[in-house]
Amino acid sequence: MKFDKYLSLAISAVQAASEVTSRIQKKLVSNDTVIKKDRSPVTIADFAAQAIVCKTLKENFPQIPIVGEEDSGFLQQKENSILLHKINEFLPSWNSEDITKYIDMGNGQPDDLFWTLDPVDGTKGFIRKQQYAVGLALIYKGKSVLGVLGCPNLQYDSKQGCLTYAISGGGAFIRGLQEEKTKELFVSSLKREDNLRFLEGVESRHSNHDLQNRIMKALSQSSQVVRYDSMVKYCVLSRGEADVYLRLPNSKSPDYKENIWDHAAGVVIIEEAGGKVSDMHGKELDFGQGKKLFNNRGVIVTNGRLHDDVIKVINE
Ligand code: AMP
Ligand code: MG
Repeated sequence: MKFDKYLSLAISAVQAASEVTSRIQKKLVSNDTVIKKDRSPVTIADFAAQAIVCKTLKENFPQIPIVGEEDSGFLQQKENSILLHKINEFLPSWNSEDITKYIDMGNGQPDDLFWTLDPVDGTKGFIRKQQYAVGLALIYKGKSVLGVLGCPNLQYDSKQGCLTYAISGGGAFIRGLQEEKTKELFVSSLKREDNLRFLEGVESRHSNHDLQNRIMKALSQSSQVVRYDSMVKYCVLSRGEADVYLRLPNSKSPDYKENIWDHAAGVVIIEEAGGKVSDMHGKELDFGQGKKLFNNRGVIVTNGRLHDDVIKVINE
């Protein structure tokens, strides 16, 4: 199966969503954020980005389901109509029915072939005015085969904002958010004895910082760690600027199952840049089990060369 025909629209959808979220982030005020039932925050940017991406995809590939993180239920409640107005201010050519309609086109169910979308991954980072990502991936028979990651606040080529993408078997590429010129991506080639550069999330509840710290020390005598929110970590590693990303379950939520949209875009980009992604036991991530990675625990991303060493240390 060839997936090339999906790429250019996937890129333009993520680019448009990245631009709108970036404009919203600059003007974000506390009333633009609400807390969902699962206690995670969502902002008007998450909704706007989901509407934009779903519109592009559904107009061009109407049969392919989109499994997105958000739905419009919240916005449809009377007391939240102000949020819908605010989204409309950033999408002036849309009417409000279209906004909710397109958001809900992201409520598809996983199938043999489907899109998965995180309109704003790392919402907590977004609210802190730090890093976040717009992540879109195409899943075919449980594997991520096409990924696009918009990273509006990540520096690239001395400018702010970049877009990374890959198709299975076709290499991984990067360009500035506003640029046409692309460059192929390759992971680092560091090995165990080297001074390794590690990544982990900012939010201490989303992984186990203490355990990760011990693993880093066991792997490299002189290691450095950088924390970023969201799938930006995948982008940084695919650029060869870090060697290992550790995401071990937090002891407060040891049975946490990762959402497919929090990883799918990053996985194919890393693989195409020469790296490797698995769970903490070395098992490939299985995107064919529904909206969550029910068959996996934790996530480990490396430059490939280091992968077996990392899994060995974790399981010792
Ligand atoms: P990060 O910025 O790397 O911490 O990843 C952000 C994502 O972490 C969000 O999109 C959430 O879906 C996800 N998340 C929320 N709670 C947890 C948890 N307890 N463990 C792992 N990930 C979580
Ligand atoms: Mg997310």
